[in-house]
Amino acid sequence: MEGTEAKFMENGVKKPVSRDDLIHFIRSVVSSNEKQQEKDLFYVLDLGATRSLVNTWFYNLRMVQPFYAVKCNPNPAFLKEMAALGTGFDCASLAEIETILSLGVSPDRIVFANTCKMESHIKYAAKVGVNLTTFDSICELEKIRKWHPNCALLMRIKVPETSGATFKFGSKFGALPDEIVPLLRAAQEAKLQVIGVSFHIGSRAINFHAFEDAIQVAKTTFDTATRLGLPKMHVLNIGGGFTSGPKFTEAASAVKAALQKYFPNEQPGNEGLKIMAEPGRFFANSSFTLATSIIGKRVRGGVKEYWINDGVSGSMNFLKYGHDELVCTPLRLTTKNPTCKGMKTWNSTVFGPTCDPEDIVLKDFELPELDLNDRLVFHNMGAYTASRGNDFNGFKTSAIPTYFANRN
Ligand code: PLP
Repeated sequence: MEGTEAKFMENGVKKPVSRDDLIHFIRSVVSSNEKQQEKDLFYVLDLGATRSLVNTWFYNLRMVQPFYAVKCNPNPAFLKEMAALGTGFDCASLAEIETILSLGVSPDRIVFANTCKMESHIKYAAKVGVNLTTFDSICELEKIRKWHPNCALLMRIKVPETSGATFKFGSKFGALPDEIVPLLRAAQEAKLQVIGVSFHIGSRAINFHAFEDAIQVAKTTFDTATRLGLPKMHVLNIGGGFTSGPKFTEAASAVKAALQKYFPNEQPGNEGLKIMAEPGRFFANSSFTLATSIIGKRVRGGVKEYWINDGVSGSMNFLKYGHDELVCTPLRLTTKNPTCKGMKTWNSTVFGPTCDPEDIVLKDFELPELDLNDRLVFHNMGAYTASRGNDFNGFKTSAIPTYFANRN
């Protein structure tokens, strides 16, 4: 993984396109000769934004190697770009490993970061040479001993839930404090090599002192392993939870301060402590924009109600989990003021296209008057959108086409 940063620096375009240019690009797609069906609903991928985010990562967290969490958005062009920029990958299944290997990425750039894996998937990892995985149960250790005994292991630990994350993982993932010793002993008896620790502070975190709390528990786990006579642990995987924008520098500072506090003598590169992370949202979210169309309209009790062609069963599935932030630009097609700047707005509701009565994308939202086939453009739509939506009512989220705003 050495040289990643240098490789990135050689890349040409690093700047994301501006909002105005994005809107201009979306208008050009809409008025292009593409098939109508393809321009009704589409993603725009800004690879300049992706490159800029990778740059920001290394600028702030030079010592932390990112393994992009594929589940967040497995868009093929996006993965290809991440592979070219030299990141590693966090894969959770056989299919995700297959996808990454098919890009020509070597298996040592993959962590199989799923604490409970199917036996057939473990066998596959052994076959293709993916030799790093996570665990948090005795049962998992038994499966790994049987099918992939040479695999290096990271013990996923449960960390204090102090990050205020929208998506919390603690009730399902991570060894509890009193499970750590029995798990380490079981690994020792099975002659498996536990080389480090992993954790996740929760996705869409807002309080980054959580990294300090988590790194403290990780340090205690390193010390416990040494006390039990296991070979010295040398990998710390700090998981995901990062968001792009001003919050990232806050998170990076918290990580660096905690590393300095709990691993002061283990400067990366010197004594061989390898620090890795599994960011998903950080890289994917602002790389993608979603252009939807108005497919229906009615006025009720003074409220303007619209239907669009994506919703809570699809790309906006995160609304079900308490994610409350949608950034939206209305785009009128038949006017000289397409983004409706300064226009009168109305209390509006926006429904998704399915028969689910809870498929409501926006409520009590101020919008200008829009017509059939006008657009609603949603920004920052790359994280857990297409990858997590379903095909309810035949609206196939995974089939939404992608256009490229900034390919070269
Ligand atoms: N690593 C693991 C094991 C995860 O489960 C997830 C998200 O579900 C991630 C990394 C990515 O998290 P985020 O998108 O918050 O960076």
